Amino acid sequence: MHVEFWTGPPVETHAYLVADREAGEAWAIDAPLSTAEALLTRTRALGLRLTRLILTHGHFDHFLDAARYDASGIPIALHSADIPLLRFPQTMMFGVDLPMPQFSVREDLTEGGRLALGRFHWDVWHVPGHSPGHVVLHCPEQAVLLGGDLLFRGGYGRVDLPHSDPAAMAQSLLRLLDLPDRTAVFPGHGPQLTLGEERTWLEPLLSDPRGVSL
Ligand SMILES: [Zn+2]
Repeated sequence: MHVEFWTGPPVETHAYLVADREAGEAWAIDAPLSTAEALLTRTRALGLRLTRLILTHGHFDHFLDAARYDASGIPIALHSADIPLLRFPQTMMFGVDLPMPQFSVREDLTEGGRLALGRFHWDVWHVPGHSPGHVVLHCPEQAVLLGGDLLFRGGYGRVDLPHSDPAAMAQSLLRLLDLPDRTAVFPGHGPQLTLGEERTWLEPLLSDPRGVSL
């Protein structure tokens, strides 16, 4: 598995290029501002076919460059529960002086879905909480999780935003505890992590009998 990333403003969001280089196929994961051109150039340089842009969720910092992929005919995938977010004036709400990009979503990501990237299979998990239609992609063979804004190093995605749901977030985070410690997580913000490193604080948080108030 080949993974590279670029980081875009205004909140240091990562775009990932994930590829099976032997099979010559790649995906883009999220499309922060000013990352698409570099990712597309790199994909061409490596001689890879880019077959999807996967949006982990519908927050503006993850899709400001999405129209660039749409214009190149690359199908964009997102969970349908986050489609309504694309129509909210999110940039204006967050005081970011940029128009909301216009693009079409051609593929619905749903719980239990299985996507092939070359020789690798990825399971789609619907993990609401940070947003209603947040997904992560898990590749069991490689022990890799494309995590979006579910889990960060020492923390998790915000649940104080419009449309976020702390109780759902707790349930979504619980699912991570079933994964092996060696699972490499590539988050939407901040450094890469492994599940084993984060289990030390995550497990006690989620087993607190007072309930999780994230
Ligand atoms: Zn987000």
